[in-house]
Amino acid sequence: MLKVCKFGGTSMANADAIRQVKKIIESDDSRRYIVVSAPGKRNKSDVKVTDALYACHEELLKTGSCKKSFAVIRERFTEIVKELGLTLDIEKVLDQTEKDIDTEKSVDFTASRGEYLSAVVTADYLGYKFMDALEMIRFDSHGKLNEDYTDDKVSIKLAPVERAVIPGFYGKDFQGKVKTFSRGGSDITGSIIARGVKADIYENWTDVSGFLVCDPRIVENAKPIKQITYKELRELSYMGAQVLHSEAIFPVMKGRIPINIRNTFSPEDAGTMIVPNEMYDTSAENVITGIAGKKNFTVLLIEKSLMNSEVGFIRRVLSVLEHYDLCVEHLPSGIDTLSVVISSEQLKGGVLSDLVNEIRESVSPDYIHVIENISLIATVGHGMARRAGTAAKLFTALKDAGINVRMIDQGSSELNIIIGVANEDYEKCIRAIYGAFVK
Ligand code: ADP
Ligand code: ASP
Ligand code: MG
Repeated sequence: MLKVCKFGGTSMANADAIRQVKKIIESDDSRRYIVVSAPGKRNKSDVKVTDALYACHEELLKTGSCKKSFAVIRERFTEIVKELGLTLDIEKVLDQTEKDIDTEKSVDFTASRGEYLSAVVTADYLGYKFMDALEMIRFDSHGKLNEDYTDDKVSIKLAPVERAVIPGFYGKDFQGKVKTFSRGGSDITGSIIARGVKADIYENWTDVSGFLVCDPRIVENAKPIKQITYKELRELSYMGAQVLHSEAIFPVMKGRIPINIRNTFSPEDAGTMIVPNEMYDTSAENVITGIAGKKNFTVLLIEKSLMNSEVGFIRRVLSVLEHYDLCVEHLPSGIDTLSVVISSEQLKGGVLSDLVNEIRESVSPDYIHVIENISLIATVGHGMARRAGTAAKLFTALKDAGINVRMIDQGSSELNIIIGVANEDYEKCIRAIYGAFVK
């Protein structure tokens, strides 16, 4: 058995948390490769080390040095090292890091130093080898992960190393410079390492006991999800359920390695298992697995009689969207209607009215109706397809709650039902769905 464990920002936030991390690692001999985040917030008003590093970069741009802002980083790491009682010469490491930030002058390099320092300290504390992600993770000239190269490197570099700590969040670009993933990207590093070493499981340790059915800020005490498939997770995290970075699924999906979301501060909880279809235990299935959503979309409702018999109709609408460089979120269609759902962010500064005019010219619809301030809510569930009446139950619950559904899109996968409601109904809608399906 081989486990890769990723510990997030709160798990690395201070010496007490890191002691807890050590206990977890040492309680299971198969936890051999450890990926760490930069220290996160110690309390609500605290700053994350990564945010403090972005401030260092700002100062560097303005004054030519990061000295003042770097004091925050210095203080965080010296305190951790002192409280853990390490003999590591952290002052020396920090002096060098500060110098490197000033000479590199790169925002990605600067931001990556939180994970770097965190891994140096954790490796020393655990007595594991520090293995830099720079030596293993490579991006191509388009900024995309070079998967095959990376996979080979991880496997070659880690094969002779029994136990190692690896910094999350960054790798090397095609010119050899440090490049970071987007925020929360240490989850991706963990997944890459798990795939590269062919781990049996990727444990992702955070500060909640698993993925909850919905955002705990909307439904208090939302229940944890025991198991969920890769595809369901993809739907939920794309729609805004955070916990795990939405791209973290891909490397482990290729290796068919399950992810276990666990709570560092409550390690006895089983957490959530994220599994490929073939490992899914259908006997424990619920009708719905989770609910997630995002606010601020615009729907263009295009109507034209007999549009389906007009060759090239949808293509012409799509070329107009392409001309404006717009990403389309959803495209549900009916007999004589086509709805185009776009994030409102993309339609600012007059783009919306130009777009509507050009669609009018291009396809001469009977009518285009623009609906703004729409939230999309996805109800996701592997089990929905097999049970009759799921949609009826969902829409009854919404009707009973007095919510007006503006758009419906049931994906062909039957894995989810996406509805559009007014932004002001967003929270109410999630609560109504939760209430109808989760007992
Ligand atoms: P880490 O620093 O360990 O990577 P994150 O802050 O990225 O942790 O993710 C964990 C947080 O995600 C939780 O503390 C919780 O506030 C938030 N969260 C949002 N939606 C959900 C959900 N559906 N289930 C569980 N946690 C959620
Ligand atoms: N430290 C980085 C961030 O705050 C990456 C991570 O924690 O996953 O976004
Ligand atoms: Mg995270």
